Amino acid sequence: MDIQYRLEQKRKVLKDFPGPRSLELTARRAAAVAAGVASSVPVYVADADGGIIHDVDGNSFIDLGSGIAVTTVGASDAAVVGAVKEQVEHFTHTCFMVTPYEGYVAVAEKLNELTPGHHAKRTVLFNSGAEAVENAIKIARVATGRSAVVAFDHAYHGRTNLTMGLTAKAMPYKYGFGPFASEIYRAPMSYPFREENAQITGKEAAERAILTMSKQIGADQIAAIVIEPIQGEGGFIVPAEGFLPRLAEFAKENGIVFIADEVQSGFARTGEWFAVQHEGVVPDLITTAKGIAGGMPLSAVTGRAELLDAVHGGGLGGTYGGNPVACAAALAAIETMDSQDLRGRAREIEATVKERFGRLQAELGENGIIGEIRGRGAMLALEFVKRGSAQAKEPDAATTKAIADYCLKEGVIILTCGTYGNVIRLLPPLVINDELLNDGLDVLEAAIRAVA
Ligand SMILES: *Cc1c(COP(=O)(O)O)cnc(C)c1O
Repeated sequence: MDIQYRLEQKRKVLKDFPGPRSLELTARRAAAVAAGVASSVPVYVADADGGIIHDVDGNSFIDLGSGIAVTTVGASDAAVVGAVKEQVEHFTHTCFMVTPYEGYVAVAEKLNELTPGHHAKRTVLFNSGAEAVENAIKIARVATGRSAVVAFDHAYHGRTNLTMGLTAKAMPYKYGFGPFASEIYRAPMSYPFREENAQITGKEAAERAILTMSKQIGADQIAAIVIEPIQGEGGFIVPAEGFLPRLAEFAKENGIVFIADEVQSGFARTGEWFAVQHEGVVPDLITTAKGIAGGMPLSAVTGRAELLDAVHGGGLGGTYGGNPVACAAALAAIETMDSQDLRGRAREIEATVKERFGRLQAELGENGIIGEIRGRGAMLALEFVKRGSAQAKEPDAATTKAIADYCLKEGVIILTCGTYGNVIRLLPPLVINDELLNDGLDVLEAAIRAVA
C-alpha cells in the first residue's frame, strides 16, 4: 500500500465533547430533520480522508466503520476525487434510459469481469443496495415465471417494502411499517456460534433449510433464494463451511435463481472481490452497492446473461440508475482497490485483529465476555455474552453499547450490529495505515478490559 494522505492520520479528542458547533447542529437538526433518522455518533463531519474523520469542532476520529462498509478506499481517495471532478465538468446526468454514455457500459464490463464465473454476464445499475435486491428479485421472477422468494433468519436486505419483507429484524427496520409483500419465506440460517447442536456441519444446516423450503413452499415454486454470504446487520454471521455451496447446488437442481447479496461483503472487503469466492460459489445473480464507488451512490445486479436478458425492454431502470458521476467514481475506486492491493490489505487486517483479540479472549477466559471473534478480511466481529454465560451464551447488548460508547469518547468510531445487538463490527477503510489501525484497536482493547 502506498497512499498519500491529505489529512494527518492521527486521533485527537478535545475535552468538550461533543463540541459547541456539533451541539448547535444537533439543535438545528432536531427542529428540521425527521426523528426517524438516527445517527450513532453525536458529532458533525467537516472532513475525512484515509482512516480519519475530522469533526466541526477540531476533533479527529479513527474510522472503523467506513460509513457502513462504503469508503473502502477512503472518503476522499485522490483517484475517485479526480474522476468525479473530471466527470462533473462535462455532464452530471443525462439519464441512461434517454441518452446513454460510456461510463455505464464500462462499469457493467468491469462487474461482468470481476464477479465469479466465466459464463456470459450482463449488468444493470441502480442507486442503492435495496434497489439492487428488489431488481434481482424482479429479474428472477420474470426469468423463472415463479413468485416465491426465500430469505434467511438474521437477514438484512434493505428498507424498501419488498426488502423490508426480506429483512428479518423487526425493530427498528420493519416495526409498524407493514403490511409487507407476499410470497416471502424465511429459512433457518447457519449460525455456528448459536447452533443448539454445536456439531452440525454446514451441509447439514443447508439440508435443514432445504427441508423448510421443500415442505413449506415446494422447490418448483421458488423463484429465488437470496442470501448474504456473510450476514451484515444480522451480526457478521459466517455460515459453516459447506452451507452456501449446498444451497447453491439445491438451487441449481431445482431451477431456482441463487442470489448472493454482496452489498456489504463485496468489493475487496473480505479479502476477495466477493465473499462467495472463499467457498468457490458461483451465484446466478449478485447484488453490489456500498463499497463499489468510493462513497458515491451506485448499485448493481450482475449475473447470467439469459436471466438479465429475460426481462422485456424498459422493464428495468430508473431516472438516476448508473449516474455518470457515480460510474466514474466506481471505475476509479475499483482501480485503487486493484493498484493498492486492498484485497491483500483486508487479509492483513484480519490477521492483526484476530491475533490480538484472540489473545484477549483467551486471557479473559472461558467465562469472559468475548463469546466469539469471526469474519473474513476486514469484515470482522466480536460477539459479546454476559460474563459467566459460556454455556447459555446470553447476548449482552448493554456491554456492547458501553464498549462502543467508551471508544467514541476516546476518538474511535465503532459500529454495533446483530439480531441481539451484541456484536461489535469492524469495517475499517482498507487504506487505513497500521499505526492508526493499531491505535484504534488499542482503544477497543482498553474498552473491553474496562467493562470486563
Ligand atoms: C446495506 C445493505 C443493503 C441495503 O443497501 P442500501 O444502499 O442501504 O439500500 C442490502 N443488503 C445488504 C447485505 C446490506 O448490507
